[in-house]
Order: sequence, then C-alpha cells, then structure tokens
Amino acid sequence: MHAILESAKKKAVIFDGGMGTMLMAAGLKAGESPELWNIEKPSLVTDIHRKYYEAGSDVVHTNTFGGNTIKLAERGLADKMETINVEAARLAREACPAGKFVAGDIGPTGKLLKPLGDLVLEEAEEGFFRQAQALLKGGVDLISIETMFSLEEALAALRAAKRLGDVLVIAALTFNRTKKGFFTMMGEGVKQAVSAFEAAGAAVIASNCSLGSRDMIDLTKELRAATRKPILIQPNAGKPVTQKGVTSYQQTPAEFAQDGQEIRNIGADMIGGCCGTNPEFIRALAQTLGNLP
Ligand SMILES: [Zn+2]
Repeated sequence: MHAILESAKKKAVIFDGGMGTMLMAAGLKAGESPELWNIEKPSLVTDIHRKYYEAGSDVVHTNTFGGNTIKLAERGLADKMETINVEAARLAREACPAGKFVAGDIGPTGKLLKPLGDLVLEEAEEGFFRQAQALLKGGVDLISIETMFSLEEALAALRAAKRLGDVLVIAALTFNRTKKGFFTMMGEGVKQAVSAFEAAGAAVIASNCSLGSRDMIDLTKELRAATRKPILIQPNAGKPVTQKGVTSYQQTPAEFAQDGQEIRNIGADMIGGCCGTNPEFIRALAQTLGNLP
C-alpha cells in the first residue's frame, strides 16, 4: 500500500492551501505565468512549499496547476513544458521533510472538449500524459488532478497518469451548488463522477475549489455516501467577495479549521485548502485536527 494511504489510516492527512495567493504575495504580476517561476524564481517557490510543511502540511502540490502543454501554449511556453514540470517537482522535493509527500499537480487545460469547444480528447490526454511523466521524472510521490470542471477531461488526465504504471492518483472535480444538488460546470453529479473515477482507477476521490468550507461539509456527506475510497476535500476560504474589481475571501483561519473538523468528522481522510487559504489556515486546521502539538 502507498505510504500516504497508510498515514490516512492513522490520522487526517493535511494538504497545503492556495498557491496563487502566495505567489502574488511574493510578487507575481497579473498575466505572468506562475509556472515559469519554477525556472526563473525557484527559491521563492521553494519558500512557499517550506511554509506549508512548517504549518503542518503532510503533502504539498507542485506549482504546476497550469503546467500542461495546452495551457502553457497560451503564453508561448509549450516548449518549456518538460523543464517546468521536472523543476517544479524537484523544488517541492527539496522542501519536503522526510516522511512527508509531494503531489504532482495537474489542472485543467482551460479549454472545452469537442463538440462544445475545439479541444480534442486524445490531444488533452496526450498533454496530461507528458505532464505526468515529467512530474514523476522530477520525483513526485503521487499525481493530484485538481479543479476539473469537466468529468470527461478529468478522466482523460486520470487515464493518462495511470498509463505511467503503478502511480497513486487523486482525482478532484470542482462542484457548484444548485437547488438540485452539487454539479460540475458540465452538469455531472456526485454519484456519476465517483463511479467513473473508481472505474478508471483513482485511489482517492476528491473535490476542491468553487465551494467554501460550509458548502463542502454537505458535499463531503454526499461523497462519503458514494464511495469507500479515501476522500480529499480542499475548500476555499469561504465565499469570495469582489469589491472594486478585487476578489478577496473573508473567512478566518479559525472558522476554516472548525469546518475542517466537521468535514473530518463526516469522514474525509485528507483535508487541505484552496483559493484564499494560506499557511495560517493550514496551521489552524492541523492544530484543530490534532496533527500539530
Ligand atoms: Zn481554488
């Protein structure tokens, strides 16, 4: 059994929080590629990983959310795909203390699959395959597919990662809450997503982003009822508030941690944060769950 699943049997496994916010605080400008920092400002990226481990994260994600070829091509960086992902993995590995883990982050292409858009499924899968290959080459312990708003695209990434052999893959969709329940942007429901992920070999069923911790409590109940696999939940820091074009999150670390405890009680095996969360949120969460002294 993978060591991360062994840990999850003993205690809650704590993931990291937001990366984008941390990069912006470190000076990343709007429109600049976060992934390019893995090559151009490596020490700043390592610092962020280190802060999360110090705050109690057992797992951090590589800075490769937009690191697939299709997404990188938007900024003319497609030819740097392999270097960016190998370096990103190496940076997180460098910050990772013994006994903790590095998750290779795979995010969406940002494009819609045919027939709604012009993204060809095979091309998306090939792009994810090459990204996962580079992340593993750089030394990640597992692959974490995040913030997918299309089940079909998430499955393409999952299949791609599974082609690389005996690799542990976490598959996360992002759900919106409607009057009829939780659905992806493409209209897929929780049960449909869970059974498709299980059939395709996901080791951990996950959800991140879009929802704050209050809504994630209810989503966790549905996920827990739908699967016996380990679950990872990464909520945003409450609902975003936009004032004068600037988006911010109002939740405090203590409120986030309290909801995290509830999510844990419902049966989430792994918990982290998404947009608006930072090492303070992770520290509060780790303390509340008893993972830190
Ligand atoms: Zn997010």
